[in-house]
Amino acid sequence: MNFDSSSTGLPRSRKLARDPSQQSNNPIIQQSTLPAPFPVYRPRRLRQTPLLRQLVRETQLDAGRLVLPLFARGGHKVRRPIGAMPGVFQLSPDELVREATKAFEAGVPAVLLFGIPDKKDIRASGAYASNGIVQKVVRLLKKELPELLVITDVCLCEYMEHGHCGIVERGRQGARILNDPTLKLLARTAASHAEAGADIVAPSDMMDGRVRAIRQGLDANGFEDVPIMSYAAKFASGFYGPFREAAESTPQFGDRRSYQMDAANANEAMREVAMDIQEGADMVMVKPALAYLDIIYRVKTQFGYPTAAYAVSAEYSMIKAAAANGWIDERAVTLESLLAMRRAGADILITYAAREVAGWLRRG
Ligand SMILES: [Zn+2]
Repeated sequence: MNFDSSSTGLPRSRKLARDPSQQSNNPIIQQSTLPAPFPVYRPRRLRQTPLLRQLVRETQLDAGRLVLPLFARGGHKVRRPIGAMPGVFQLSPDELVREATKAFEAGVPAVLLFGIPDKKDIRASGAYASNGIVQKVVRLLKKELPELLVITDVCLCEYMEHGHCGIVERGRQGARILNDPTLKLLARTAASHAEAGADIVAPSDMMDGRVRAIRQGLDANGFEDVPIMSYAAKFASGFYGPFREAAESTPQFGDRRSYQMDAANANEAMREVAMDIQEGADMVMVKPALAYLDIIYRVKTQFGYPTAAYAVSAEYSMIKAAAANGWIDERAVTLESLLAMRRAGADILITYAAREVAGWLRRG
């Protein structure tokens, strides 16, 4: 908005000092004019009633942008609670369909599937088996809820004995996670998910070159229309703690810092995202979300691609724990956190609270 003294009688505008980090072609950042000084301009004028506030609200939350992560395991009528994530369960296929149906009926358009196999090995064979747990659940979901968007997490850690996201080579200097041989397995996994009917595949391993390998694997198998949502900037994070219990994917030795990103690096995150886009990613993700809003903002403004924010397990657990103690208002804090992700530029919100959020938004 520009105030011009000739038309408004207000003092002539003054230019804001330019922040070099904001000198992008960001469509959001066009405010180069200071408002008129008090008392001519009173920001509180536009905050006087709920409808007035609604009229000038810059960012909206709507259920159509939500994705609910779900954990699938074998069995029947199994709902195994995750201790640190109240309301989240490992679910057998029948129960998972029930959970997905409730979410879909509440207005959540998409689920993101993780699988917990019966057996693990050193080739992650459960990840790409045609009757693997994820493949089974995808087929069932597409049969029972054909409209629901089914996104599959593509990684090997849940299926590897050692819990790492790639093939491990043990040498004299300890264990290494091999990059290039892992790509073949990831591509095979993604193709098997597409074969089962997945609408979108989402590689989360952080191996270099995996988006290209997966795109080629999908195309070679006739799945050129299946989009890739890449975990493009996935940081090695303490916020994943409760997830490892949920997905039973804790590494048996070492940690994931040789492939997931260093939390200190924002410029490198831009390179990771640029690489994934050049390799064929259709959507990019930043994970975790709330502690990385600057990354979400930069990714959205620099690339303009559909951008997902993954509000990870501890983001959920912290809100649940504080709310259970009566320290915070769960609904207010959950919605405010998601709104912050949207404000930073996220189009897609992946959250364990998706169903509750959709309910809250519907009731207003
Ligand atoms: Zn993994």
